Amino acid sequence: MQLIAKNTFEELLEAIDMLCIPASKEMLDNLHRDVLSKVIPAETLPPVSELIFAKSAPILFFGQWKGRRIKILLCSENDKLTEASVYSVTKKMSIRVRSEHPEKPGLMVHHLSSQELVQAAFTGWTSGQYDLGIFKKPEDNNLKSNSTSVYTFLPKGINQSTAEEGITIGEVQQEVMDLVNTPANHQSPELLGDWATQSAATYKYKATILNKEKLNELGMHALLAVNRGSEDPAIMIVTHYSHPDAKKRIALIGKGVIFDTGGVSIKDSKNMHYMKSDMAGAAAALGTVEACARLGLKVDVMAITPVTDNSIGTMSLKPGDVISSYAGKSIEVIDTDAEGRLILADALAYAVKEYQPDVMVDMATLTGSIIAAIGPHAAGLFTKNDQLAESLRQAGESSGERLWRMPMFDEYQEDMQSDIADIKNLSEKPYAGSVTAAKFLEFFTSDHPSWAHLDIAGMGYQPNGFGKSYCATAYGVRLLLKWMKS
Ligand SMILES: [Zn+2]
Repeated sequence: MQLIAKNTFEELLEAIDMLCIPASKEMLDNLHRDVLSKVIPAETLPPVSELIFAKSAPILFFGQWKGRRIKILLCSENDKLTEASVYSVTKKMSIRVRSEHPEKPGLMVHHLSSQELVQAAFTGWTSGQYDLGIFKKPEDNNLKSNSTSVYTFLPKGINQSTAEEGITIGEVQQEVMDLVNTPANHQSPELLGDWATQSAATYKYKATILNKEKLNELGMHALLAVNRGSEDPAIMIVTHYSHPDAKKRIALIGKGVIFDTGGVSIKDSKNMHYMKSDMAGAAAALGTVEACARLGLKVDVMAITPVTDNSIGTMSLKPGDVISSYAGKSIEVIDTDAEGRLILADALAYAVKEYQPDVMVDMATLTGSIIAAIGPHAAGLFTKNDQLAESLRQAGESSGERLWRMPMFDEYQEDMQSDIADIKNLSEKPYAGSVTAAKFLEFFTSDHPSWAHLDIAGMGYQPNGFGKSYCATAYGVRLLLKWMKS
């Protein structure tokens, strides 16, 4: 996405054929007086009361500037402009812009009062330009090539680099969405590994691929057990970006199940096609490391992502099997559809032993139970560390990628006790499935004092404006960047 910054608002109006205005309820009076009345003829200028009714859906007007028609798109969602609301309304407008096909779209940001708000606007804009029609013929596709640039006029004191950083984050989100939306027959552990290798070479950070042979040698028995039914060998991708001024080492662990059939404990077929999204945690972790490298953040951050299919074959893991794990702990597999926690068990134990991170955050589309508990408006946050919980919660609040803290009481661990092995992979109680999943993961963290688990099952893949159905959201990238910057 190319940014074309003009020196004045008038110059911006001269250059564009469409103006998009991220707004809030409390500023509509000012916008009406200072902006809309200048570019919309008095006889067609809607009253402020109509703008308020347009809450949360973008509304389109026709304006004029020096005898030339300009389309104006305005969207207001909340009373106040916050990072979360600016991102959200700008993304909505950006998606809408594609159906208007402007040749020269402009994004108005000079009414935004901080770097964070301007950056959020450009991230929302770039994210909204994502092209979901991966396999469509170009002539049937919504997205026109001219949407690759955006015009603006920046407020005083805001550098162009602020807007460009916003664009970079949006570009990373586009890549993450692409990884998740790509169907399983066009995706594989190897291809995801290639993506990481390519990204690391381009943006100058490290990527290591642990292939199946290496996983065997290391004793990643739980990851390899899940992989048994698949024709594509499992891998572990480790990416690492390190700034010399970084104060602590952060490990992001992401669940990378390319497609989850459930295995022998096969899923209901009704929504099984959504299961191409079961690597949303891995994609977000890998994308976040790329973003850190591209933005040059002063952090030391790694992504550790176990990647495999959960398929069905003659060799598949069976319910009742007892497997080993990298941590040397035995696991009774009650349900082969609780595979995410198996591969994460190895990744978490490996992260602790091999890299001794100061902080560990894992992201996984882990349980349907978290959706049953809190729906599609927040991810579940599981940690015993109050300080870590609060810093993540705040980052979620300001980015709009919200988190809601769930309990981690030790009583829940009792539901994971197996008669035959050290632990079982599913509580057989009809409640608290997301909590017992988190307790299972905790068992493999060596009681790391600063570990949090984010269950993003309701957040990584949901209706979000790009199409009629569910698609990727890139949830986690903005949240973690905000958290690392705080
Ligand atoms: Zn599963």
